Amino acid sequence: MIHLGLIGYPLSHSLSPRIHESALAAVSLQGEYLLYPVAPGDIGGLAVLTMRMRAGELQGLNVTIPHKQAIMSLMDELTACSQAIGAVNTVTVHDGKLIGHNTDAPGFQSDLAKFLRNTAAQKKALVLGAGGAARAVVYALLRDGWKVALAVRRADLSQARALIESFEPQAGAKSMDLLLLESGDLDRLGNGLELIVNATPIGMFPDSEHSPWPQGCPFPKGAAVYDLVYNPRQTRLVRDAQAAGLRAKTGLGMLVEQAALSFACWTGRDVAREILFAAVEA
Ligand code: NAP
Repeated sequence: MIHLGLIGYPLSHSLSPRIHESALAAVSLQGEYLLYPVAPGDIGGLAVLTMRMRAGELQGLNVTIPHKQAIMSLMDELTACSQAIGAVNTVTVHDGKLIGHNTDAPGFQSDLAKFLRNTAAQKKALVLGAGGAARAVVYALLRDGWKVALAVRRADLSQARALIESFEPQAGAKSMDLLLLESGDLDRLGNGLELIVNATPIGMFPDSEHSPWPQGCPFPKGAAVYDLVYNPRQTRLVRDAQAAGLRAKTGLGMLVEQAALSFACWTGRDVAREILFAAVEA
């Protein structure tokens, strides 16, 4: 019997139990995947769960908003990926040692590869937002050789500058540009941009009628749009981009990929993605 779970707050809309329970059934493993709501800032609550992992009561945990950074201080080891991103979304235990992984970045990378298939030699992407998910996206894009620009609201400039600074060594000569998430700035982007990634929560249920793309600002011709938001299934950003003739998709594929990668970290088993998608759609 394997005991898995998710730490976050609140967890009322989480699709993770459905995905992981279908993964357990697919590989005929007896187990459970429970929700562990821990209030923001409650380090004691996180410590209790990590102690239970060390004691062998829990074999694997996922971590989501708002604890992806706070959990890092309770780990014995961090993978190179989670260290570079500065966030952990998956915890494994080996010989009583806790290891913090990040499967958001490879999950995004893998779903993006399916979406784009062929890209030009000079790949240019614009990432909206500078929070935890944006850091995972930037890490993945830089590893895949993209030139990345960030667009954030005025209030987030210092957070964006810190992100750019921490990824400077990885970006190398392809230094990252910083723009404001406003018409005046984004209008100047022109064409030649291949990808726009929304890593802000704008458009997420119940804020479903909003889009992070400024009203009246034309989309760059030929760009593809990847919206990390997956609830609702069709976001306003995706609808507007498609109406303007762009290819666009939401982040459900990334959610499924990161879950499958977490599951593989805990169990060593790879589950067919169709099974996990079917569980989400059920
Ligand atoms: P986060 O750490 O809170 O960061 C969100 C970013 O968006 C921050 O830069 C934030 O600025 C900015 N932002 C928030 N409201 C904004 C607004 N009205 N206008 C402009 N910028 C705004 O959250 P996160 O963990 O990065 O998650 C972001 C989104 O990605 C969420 O919707 C989450 O569900 C989604 N996500 C999806 C997947 C997937 O598997 N598909 C995985 C991870 C995350 P402040 O810091 O100033 O608020």
